[in-house]
Amino acid sequence: MATDYHMHTPLCGHATGEPREYVLAAQAAGLTEIGFSDHNPMPTQFDDWRMAPDQFTEYLKLIADVQAEFPNYPIRLGLECDYLVGYEEHIRHLAAQAPWDYLIGSVHYITPSWDVDNPKHLKKWTEQPVDEIWTLYFKEYTRMAESGLFDFVAHPDLVKKFGHRPEGDLSRFYTETLNAIAENGLTMEVSTAGLRKDAKEIYPSRQFIEMAYARRIPIVINSDAHSPAEVAYEFKQATALVKEIGYTKVMQFKDRKAIPVDL
Ligand code: ZN
Ligand code: FE
Ligand code: FE
Ligand code: ZN
Repeated sequence: MATDYHMHTPLCGHATGEPREYVLAAQAAGLTEIGFSDHNPMPTQFDDWRMAPDQFTEYLKLIADVQAEFPNYPIRLGLECDYLVGYEEHIRHLAAQAPWDYLIGSVHYITPSWDVDNPKHLKKWTEQPVDEIWTLYFKEYTRMAESGLFDFVAHPDLVKKFGHRPEGDLSRFYTETLNAIAENGLTMEVSTAGLRKDAKEIYPSRQFIEMAYARRIPIVINSDAHSPAEVAYEFKQATALVKEIGYTKVMQFKDRKAIPVDL
């Protein structure tokens, strides 16, 4: 049973390919179930990498249409939600607007004006110690895990995207976040997207996954596809890694419930 629950649509403005092409790619890759999870709309336009507020119904229709086109293939409805302090009510509002199969929690913004994975802000990395930036990121990520808003949490160490890593043992950044993920009963994403970035490593790191396994945190393997060619990207490598660490199951999502299935 192989799934990919993190796939985008052209509505976010930086993904290419129609949803039906993602479905065909998923079927070709042998996936048995998939889900779309585009970046959530904010109350106002907010930035240039998500659907506009008035495109939300278009998103729901896009997914409903592709579900109708492939009635015998399970296509779940998800949303990748940006966690930002002060927008919890907005997420709760979105949660009530559609029959979601899952909501993904993501931290891209480590301050209201710095989306840490945006190359537009690379200069900021030279203005502050990497340690401080990582601390900020994981503090927000912990808050997200504690918010009770989400079903699984995405790309846990996205902050390494451009290859910036603090010195020494990184578990000092991971422990609190992992405890919050475990205590809140969340599933953790293992994302192959990091392999396509300067980090050249799966999100999260092997050590992070080992610490998650020690806490019995369930996982899901995703590609974060922004094009049909990225669907199921390097899933063999991710599956081998998590199996080596000890995982034998991944979670499937439907109606905001997580069900364990064999890897
Ligand atoms: Zn994106
Ligand atoms: Fe993301
Ligand atoms: Fe994504
Ligand atoms: Zn993402």
